[in-house]
Amino acid sequence: MQKIFKLPAAEAQKIAAGEVVERPASVVKELVENSLDAGATHLTIHVKNGGKEYLQIIDDGCGMSAVDARLCIEQYATSKIRSVNDLSSLATFGFRGEALSSIAAVSCLTIVTREPSQEHGIKLTIENGTIHEEIVACNSGTIITVENLYYNVPARKKFLKTRETEWRAILQLLQALCLAYPHCSFKIFHENNLILNCPRAAHDKERIHQLFGHQLSERLLESSAHDDATKTSITGLISSIQYTRYDRSQIFILVNKRWIKNYKLSQAIMKGYGNRLVKDRFPAAFIAIEIDPQQIDINIHPRKEEVQFLNPRKVETLIEEMIADLLQKTMAQHLPTHTLPLQQTASINNFLPTYPIAAPLNHHTFAPYQTETSLPLKNNVVEQKRFEHVIEKAFTFQEEHKEQLPLINPEQSAYQLIGQLHKTYILLETDKGLLLIDQHAAHERILYEQFATRFYECALVKLIFPEIITLTPDDCKLLTSFQDILQTHHIMIELYGDNQIMIQSVPVYLKNQSVVDIIHYTLACAQQHQNLSPQELSKKLHESLQAQMACKAAVKAGDVLTLEKMHELIHLLEKTPNKSTCPHGRPTSWLIALHELEKMFRRKL
Ligand code: ADP
Ligand code: MG
Repeated sequence: MQKIFKLPAAEAQKIAAGEVVERPASVVKELVENSLDAGATHLTIHVKNGGKEYLQIIDDGCGMSAVDARLCIEQYATSKIRSVNDLSSLATFGFRGEALSSIAAVSCLTIVTREPSQEHGIKLTIENGTIHEEIVACNSGTIITVENLYYNVPARKKFLKTRETEWRAILQLLQALCLAYPHCSFKIFHENNLILNCPRAAHDKERIHQLFGHQLSERLLESSAHDDATKTSITGLISSIQYTRYDRSQIFILVNKRWIKNYKLSQAIMKGYGNRLVKDRFPAAFIAIEIDPQQIDINIHPRKEEVQFLNPRKVETLIEEMIADLLQKTMAQHLPTHTLPLQQTASINNFLPTYPIAAPLNHHTFAPYQTETSLPLKNNVVEQKRFEHVIEKAFTFQEEHKEQLPLINPEQSAYQLIGQLHKTYILLETDKGLLLIDQHAAHERILYEQFATRFYECALVKLIFPEIITLTPDDCKLLTSFQDILQTHHIMIELYGDNQIMIQSVPVYLKNQSVVDIIHYTLACAQQHQNLSPQELSKKLHESLQAQMACKAAVKAGDVLTLEKMHELIHLLEKTPNKSTCPHGRPTSWLIALHELEKMFRRKL
């Protein structure tokens, strides 16, 4: 009996289309790349319902003749290569002639196009395999409209994500394309709202400003690297350590203007930052790699989202070293010329914000800040590593002797304050051994517990110059729905236009910049917990705000503390509930027991 049947061409095409057109963002990618290949410099993109319902790309590129327009929707129809040998010297995005035919197979596609030399344009409507054609008057260039993606492949349609998720994927892709083409102008609409307006930019920094606002563009550092052997040039615009994100969404890697995802390269970026960033935070980084096309293979991924390098280690090292050197140089510029002896060091914070309750309306007395000088230098890393090793040993030991911890209790057992180590740890001699307290973690816990019980008594400051944050209209809407929650934490926000949030007040001990971070964090938290019930979500947001505030207001690693402030902190920690860890779960103190020290120095075996 015959078991094998040949699939009808239309069915085979629908299946194959899934490779190229995985989701609305992949349609946008193919269409915008086609426009850029056609030499367009002005692009307008309309998206509706996360692209599931409607996508339109309008360009001012070279357009197509009627003959080419009829051909472009055929499978393997391309104007970009003639044979596989052309691949190695390819200067365009497209080459396989698969995108338009695939999109046509799984949507209702309309093409309106005119070459500048022609008087009239042509309009083709393709639906269910039938093509309707008419002559039209239109601007030169091309308008492609894609409606009802996957209307005829329900098995695939049901895998499309929510409107928000699909839209976020499109937006990130468009941000990458905007970054790769700063000299092109992009207007991007979602549900008829203008979300991004990027007129032609003079340079990359200006484009970053258009896309992500001044909070980032003012904190950008610039560098470049080059390798002659592999003909590789790298330029990097990266955020200084003061600007961090809770995810990798502002890390973009471009290879010959193509946005690619490459785990090893994004690891190289993180390695370049080394231990300068707080754990679980990410920088913004825009890394553009220009490389001899012979050194890469772009044909390894159906949607060309990945690239294979002939010599990947070389590129990784170039990036890592470029970033490490740049940060090292920037930090060195801020270093003091000599270090003061301990007795003379004045506290950076005149006041240790132990009780930020009903405090006077004076920012300076409260706002502790982190200076760039305060972070560990590269040469100190070795020292610190060695020290961490000792602590690690103590950690194992401590785990085994948990019941003896923690042991400071100023009323009962005396302690001797030794001093501050690396402007980060407070060292105490106790009868049990050497106790180390992480000044930031400890203060964070103290404030967190204080906020939990007495926050409402704290004062708020109305900002004379309200801080403005630019977000997407969707994020603005989401955030304003939590206005009340933010207000109980003394952060008053208001919607300002479609895509901006105005911060009108902050708690007395926070600086404006800290509040901007907190707003971003709250948004990330709300997005991450979208599936929770309103009550659970509200509880989560309250807790996270409380922890964020404690973190921002606490003394930082790198803040010099006077002996008096250290005593104050130890004393408060002793009285604080849950004192053994900070709100993020890091330990606040570690004991290196006397007999452990004796073992280390072989005084006892
Ligand atoms: P590829 O880009 O791999 O060549 P596509 O299916 O994406 O394949 O496009 C087929 C052809 O249609 C392109 O080679 C190009 O000649 C033409 N084309 C597609 N989009 C445009 C556009 N926006 N402007 C001008 N020509 C276009
Ligand atoms: Mg193409």
